[in-house]
Amino acid sequence: MNTNMSPMMRQYLEIKKQNPNTILFFRLGDFYEMFFEDAKLASKELELTLTGRDCGQEERAPMCGVPYHSCEAYIARLVAKGYRVAICEQMEDPATAKGLVKRDVVRVITPGTVTENSMLDESNNNFLCTLSMSDQVAGLCFADISTGEMHVTELAGEDLILRIQNELGRFVPKEILLDHKASEEREIIDFITNKLNCVFAPVPADMFDRQACVQLIEKHFHKSMDQMDLKGDSDQTVGALGVTLQYLYDTQKSGLERITDVDYYSEAQFMRLDLNTRRNLELVETMRAKEKKGSLLWVLDHTKTAMGKRLIRSWIEQPLVNGASVCRRLNAVEELVANTPLREELSEMLEGIFDMERLMTRIVYGTANARDLRAMSKTFQCLPGLKKSLSAGYSAMLTEIRESIDGMEDMYDLIERAIEDDPPVALRDGGIIRKGYSDELDELRSIHTSGRDIIAKIESEEKEKTGIKNLKVGFNKVFGYYLEVTKSNLSQVPPYYVRKQTLVNSERYITQELKDLEGRILGAQERSTALEYQLYESVRKEVAGQLARVEKTASAIAKLDVLCSFAQAAFRNHYCRPDITMDGKINIKEGRHPVVEAMLKDVPFVPNDTFLDGDENRVAIITGPNMAGKSTYMRQTALIVLMAQIGSFVPATTASVGIVDSIFTRVGASDDLTSGQSTFMVEMNEVAHILKYATRDSLLILDEIGRGTSTYDGMSIARAVLEYVADTKKLGAKTLFATHYHELTEMEQQYPGVRNYNIAVKKRGDDITFLRRIVPGGADDSYGIEVAKLSGIPDDVIVRAKQILKQLEETGHTTGKKTSRKAKAGRDEDTQQISLVPSAGDAIATKLKSIDVNTLTPIEALNVLYELNKMA
Ligand code: ADP
Repeated sequence: MNTNMSPMMRQYLEIKKQNPNTILFFRLGDFYEMFFEDAKLASKELELTLTGRDCGQEERAPMCGVPYHSCEAYIARLVAKGYRVAICEQMEDPATAKGLVKRDVVRVITPGTVTENSMLDESNNNFLCTLSMSDQVAGLCFADISTGEMHVTELAGEDLILRIQNELGRFVPKEILLDHKASEEREIIDFITNKLNCVFAPVPADMFDRQACVQLIEKHFHKSMDQMDLKGDSDQTVGALGVTLQYLYDTQKSGLERITDVDYYSEAQFMRLDLNTRRNLELVETMRAKEKKGSLLWVLDHTKTAMGKRLIRSWIEQPLVNGASVCRRLNAVEELVANTPLREELSEMLEGIFDMERLMTRIVYGTANARDLRAMSKTFQCLPGLKKSLSAGYSAMLTEIRESIDGMEDMYDLIERAIEDDPPVALRDGGIIRKGYSDELDELRSIHTSGRDIIAKIESEEKEKTGIKNLKVGFNKVFGYYLEVTKSNLSQVPPYYVRKQTLVNSERYITQELKDLEGRILGAQERSTALEYQLYESVRKEVAGQLARVEKTASAIAKLDVLCSFAQAAFRNHYCRPDITMDGKINIKEGRHPVVEAMLKDVPFVPNDTFLDGDENRVAIITGPNMAGKSTYMRQTALIVLMAQIGSFVPATTASVGIVDSIFTRVGASDDLTSGQSTFMVEMNEVAHILKYATRDSLLILDEIGRGTSTYDGMSIARAVLEYVADTKKLGAKTLFATHYHELTEMEQQYPGVRNYNIAVKKRGDDITFLRRIVPGGADDSYGIEVAKLSGIPDDVIVRAKQILKQLEETGHTTGKKTSRKAKAGRDEDTQQISLVPSAGDAIATKLKSIDVNTLTPIEALNVLYELNKMA
């Protein structure tokens, strides 16, 4: 380090060295300043003016800054862009410090470790993830310090990369820490950068040292590893957990007692869903607009609390595979659907509940203010009533929820007694603690108020004593209380008045009596605000000490909120309770698409049945024109199965759902165009992935496989995929397969388990009407031109398309309208391409064929010859 640097700059550089890869917010009085590269970067990202500061060098150090009181918004913007911000505070009062003020980093704010309300979305968790892996094992830890959650899992065996990706897709972390091996895995890095779009960083190997991690874990949770009951204890799992904790300690510096427990889960508890499927099924946001509106979450979410909002999202993201667990939820939902008064009463009560989890985080961290405590007490106030209402419930889950809710009467009582109704945000200016809570405080306050009365009394007494009628008592910060006498009355001023200040028209004096009183009043005020802060802190700590009770209650309330929400959705939308079975059959009567149904305004949704038994009815090939409703139908089946497995009622009149282990979808164009692959390559990759990972117990939704290449190539691929899927010796998974290749319908006769369906349309003249009904059998036509007409293609183009089609049919490229656009399935080896534009020879042949030689007059014959000549 350059010795010419000013001492402050040396301090800055030292701290900066200890906090690499962060933007250092360096507190200087009322500002946080940034220097050098940080300043250049922040000035660009935050649109701040870049200035300079003398640093003892010839050149000034680039500098920019933000006022400390509005720093949160700036930090939020940097963190949202993926930066890590280190907050460096003055650790002593500059007014009393000797020499250079001591400074230190008190916190590092990173995308995965945010606790500020303004940087969080109440309906989303904010997970930090650590991934450690070997060739055979992966350990994953997900922590949300804003809610105190921590989840850990261990994956071992085959398909590690895919399974890691699935877990990352389930939690959608905001920040990922990787060990060396993981950071070298191209597929993992691609997935994180292209799909999750979150920040990630490699972590030095020594942080994963097992010994050190075990020590930290045991110290943090006050338990031995055995007591922790982590079902996986590979180096990777222990490392992931240990590194997560270490990183949180390093960034937070304090407040980590908020994380009290680890939830060890196994991926086998949940339905397997890859990120593509989550996105294709639009579970929590739409594919294009990335909005909640139009997603399954949007239809199901009637939650009232922030905890409920986060939990419903995670339930939707993690459908269960254990039938008994699903039924527990369904029993509770059923009860709440049937008991409308109870459901409405509970919903209304839930409205009054604040975000207990995140309030508690701030209370434990010590960043809460008095208003946060008030919000907590309003929440506590609702709890006994909620418990009481729940005693009307009888299902196991509602009973358990009731038992888990703590009435928190003592804490409610404490906050009510201690904290004013509408306290200020600032904690050190008083006005927080209620009268009657502390005798000492009340006394100090009364000295303060009575002091004022005494002052008023002094004023009138002095007037009387001196005979100065306009004598006044005043106060200013410099001199305190004083007696003011105008110039004209100066002769009457008694000797015991001590002059303090001369003004143009008057003189100001103090007396011993006034000075004593001032000391008492001001001292009392100072002590009373200090005492208020102390009292506030003791209340806060008292509440913080109830962390376990609050956590348990918050998690019960989250569950209750989601169950009520499912019940409300079921009630409003006329859903039915699904029968959950393990027989592998899906039998839905009059099923509807939950989202399309909710979005349709002018027309009713047409319900359809689905029957897939994994046996005779294993694979359904669905044909029908574009826009007929094929993909809606397939998605509705997938969504109904998924809804059933999260414990929700489903849009159908009856539904029997055999639990599936996973749903795979291959639908439409992917959003993966950024990865530089062609649409066809992306499609094939996805198909490969599905064929590799699906099992007999999976549900597959395949929409127009093979579309991205030439007709025969595409059709051959589609058929081969279907054969593989349908064959029980190979895959034999329940599959819905939409296709334009009508030739594939021939497979119904050739393969057991394959069934043809089509979506009915009615044709009148040139117009078609979509009936939206699914019926057995293949479609007789694609009605492509008719659909094109419906979608507003100009008439000229439609007319021309019809001409071309007619010519194609007549020239034998197709064999009549019925089997039009059908290539014989037996011609798999035929690689000829259909030519869309007829050659001249074709046209002449067509013309010749159309001539009836027997009735042709000589003149007409000449004309035809003339025309043919022109065509050649
Ligand atoms: P395809 O996949 O056959 O091209 P879609 O499934 O995309 O067709 O359906 C097109 C549109 O038709 C949907 O956006 C929806 O508005 C409407 N639709 C589909 N199925 C139904 C139905 N069963 N009832 C009412 N409208 C439907």
